[in-house]
Amino acid sequence: MTTDDLDARAKQLDSDHVFHSWSAQAGLDLPVIAGGRGTVVWDHAGHRMLDFASQLVNVNIGHQHPAVVAAIQAQAAELATIGPATANLTRGEAAARILSKAPDGFAKVFFTNGGADAVENAIRMARLHASRQNPGRDTVLSTYRSYHGNTGAAIVATGDWRRMPNQYARGHAHFFGPYLYRSEFWATTPEEECERALHHLERVIQSEGPSTIAAVLLESVPGTAGILVPPPGYLAGVRALCDRYDLLLILDEVMCGFGRTGRWFAFDGHDVVPDLVTFAKGVNSGYVPVGGVIISDPISKTFDDRVFPGGLTYSGHPLAAASIVASIDAMQDEGIVDNARRVGEEAIGPGLRALAEDHRLIGEVRGEGVFWAIELVTDRETREPVGADVIGRLKKELTSRGLLPFTAENRIHVVPPCVVTAGEVDQAMSIYHEALTSVEADLA
Ligand code: PMP
Repeated sequence: MTTDDLDARAKQLDSDHVFHSWSAQAGLDLPVIAGGRGTVVWDHAGHRMLDFASQLVNVNIGHQHPAVVAAIQAQAAELATIGPATANLTRGEAAARILSKAPDGFAKVFFTNGGADAVENAIRMARLHASRQNPGRDTVLSTYRSYHGNTGAAIVATGDWRRMPNQYARGHAHFFGPYLYRSEFWATTPEEECERALHHLERVIQSEGPSTIAAVLLESVPGTAGILVPPPGYLAGVRALCDRYDLLLILDEVMCGFGRTGRWFAFDGHDVVPDLVTFAKGVNSGYVPVGGVIISDPISKTFDDRVFPGGLTYSGHPLAAASIVASIDAMQDEGIVDNARRVGEEAIGPGLRALAEDHRLIGEVRGEGVFWAIELVTDRETREPVGADVIGRLKKELTSRGLLPFTAENRIHVVPPCVVTAGEVDQAMSIYHEALTSVEADLA
């Protein structure tokens, strides 16, 4: 077979036999990816694309990092699988590596298979811990603009997407987090937005009844819902409210954790210590599916003399554990988290701001590290979001020019791996510029 035949066969098999998530199945035209390295992926024929989506915002260390691949190979050769009710050196090392990045007061990690089940189990732990003192406490408050995963409690905790049939919709309530560009609170400055969002949350807590609430769950930086970097003081303010009303704070770091913001955890530097932290994606860049919950000591102690009713066959899988150890070590030794911060400050931020000057479709750019959103509007005054047709056109223009984009609603998320170089960012900015120019010309 020629390489073109391989690409055609990959497409054919995919469209004949693979049922895809979040999609109507007919007419999908998905890119073939056969290989990759760093920020670049390619098909069988060798057509290269800049991966400015990091797949699903998870390949933080870049594609095919040799040390991570080697660690998985070595672990597979030695011991490819074991059950969770075993002590294993690599699994212990993985937990210790993760905890070395967490604040003081966290000593345990519960491993899951991905992000949704991490959130699921964090909610269960919070409810069991909170209801130990007060059996009625099981409501979880989360934000309308969020994504927490597509399983029972996680999809109900997810705000605007939760309106789907779900028999588990019990014990959840929602609130609005800060989002200055489309403020729910008529705020005009980050300070106002912060203060009013906290006031709103306090009112929701009071209205729901603090004695019925187990926890507040939020993404430190809401990702899928728009990369909504919180204003200074917001996360600390939420912590203060949780303390005042005796609620637990679960921070979902599945997307924003492990380098994406240019910090190990997105909440670092926000003067906040959560009770539970969920992680997945960037912890090993998805080389082997894994996620988990980082558990603070008081919650962990709840389960010293009480069974935690939960578990997964592949919890702490050795291949996942080996990839976590190698990935965290490489990110540390190679300064990859610092690279994300620097490239964000020096290349992506300035590049996107320059783009916004040239393109009337851009209403706002925001972000940090390698975690940025371009919000597209039909009119800068009214801030009316562009429709799906415009985003669809842009997606085609970007893909045909060799950039794999991440789009959501009226936004393009600029989310390359943490190892991206300033040169690659320059190439990407030219592609965004050309694609926007072409779509704007059609709209004119
Ligand atoms: N939480 C957050 C913040 C996420 O972004 C995601 C996935 N995008 C999840 C949870 C769910 O993770 P998974 O798809 O691995 O189940």
